[in-house]
Amino acid sequence: MGRIYNFYPGPAALPLSVLQKAQEALFDFRGMGAGVMEISHRSAEFESVLLSAQQRLKRLLGLDPSTHILFIQGGARLQFAMVPMNFLQTAAAYIETGNWSEGAIKEARRVGETRVIGSSADRQYAYIPSFDKSQLRGDEDYLHITTNNTIYGAQWHSIPDTGKIPLVADMSSDIASRPHDYNRYDLIYAGAQKNLGPAGVTVVLVKDSFAQKANRSDKLSPMLRYQTYIDKNSLYNTPPVWSIFMLDLVLEWLEDEGGLAEIGARNQKKAEMLYRFCDERPDFYKGCIDRPDRSLMNITLRLPTEDLEKKLVAEAKQAGFLGLKGHKLSGGIRISNYNAIPVEAAEKLAGFLDEFARKNA
Ligand SMILES: *Cc1c(COP(=O)(O)O)cnc(C)c1O
Repeated sequence: MGRIYNFYPGPAALPLSVLQKAQEALFDFRGMGAGVMEISHRSAEFESVLLSAQQRLKRLLGLDPSTHILFIQGGARLQFAMVPMNFLQTAAAYIETGNWSEGAIKEARRVGETRVIGSSADRQYAYIPSFDKSQLRGDEDYLHITTNNTIYGAQWHSIPDTGKIPLVADMSSDIASRPHDYNRYDLIYAGAQKNLGPAGVTVVLVKDSFAQKANRSDKLSPMLRYQTYIDKNSLYNTPPVWSIFMLDLVLEWLEDEGGLAEIGARNQKKAEMLYRFCDERPDFYKGCIDRPDRSLMNITLRLPTEDLEKKLVAEAKQAGFLGLKGHKLSGGIRISNYNAIPVEAAEKLAGFLDEFARKNA
């Protein structure tokens, strides 16, 4: 079977064992004689899949029992809009750390007063701005951060202390990648296609105390109200059954692999192998991100010339490494090191990068 090392940033690699299980369920789900995509979302069989995915998320992330676990379509980008539509009444604070947080800020501005209280735009998002709760005025409905900057490669390694102001995070590219205090956030959203499964479902984790404050006005379409998804357990309209099924399989795989402690240690180890070049060959592989803020998930590098970057991407593809071209906004090289990337893939790629530098430096 021709599977290669896949470092695409999203949609991204899925564990082979998950794909193999999915293949069986495509034709015959649990002996029903029909595939998982062909059965009613109201059947007991599908409801058990939905419940299982919720329970696994709760266990894996150690979520407070009051957390509602919702599955919504429309990607992280719909959450950029739903968060302010549901929660922005007085004002919202945002910290801008890249293109995705910019997108979230734009949507908030459509709804109401949006205060950008920190930004790393001055240095092409190469760091995480420092935060102190004195930057908040105290009347904000929430502070929004993007925990991992998928495009430029900076990641929050601490959780901002916002005092009484609710904390909201876009965790699309680093959810479930490390042990983390997920209960410090009032709302977390994450498109599945980086670390949790295929595109088509967005996981939303919202604490009940925060959900109580959400907009329930009839003027807002029920499809855009968190309360609808809470009341109907994400079954108000037909949910993306296949994506939720795949999410459950990926979460099962994560549990079998040893949970977040094990996967976090592995991600750390892989990232160290891949950042080594910024430290050992700084004239050839230039790290883009300030060292303390380097992302464990998306490793960005610049080479001395753009021609060398193109050459690297082309030769890597020949050698069996897919998806290393940087985002069009940032250029350069990006290695996406999500949970499903095996240690062996990172080791092999590190070997390739070493050799490429020796030949071309
Ligand atoms: C990929 C990504 C998005 C966009 O997600 P869609 O599902 O395409 O809307 C938003 N935020 C972050 C941090 C991402 O990595």
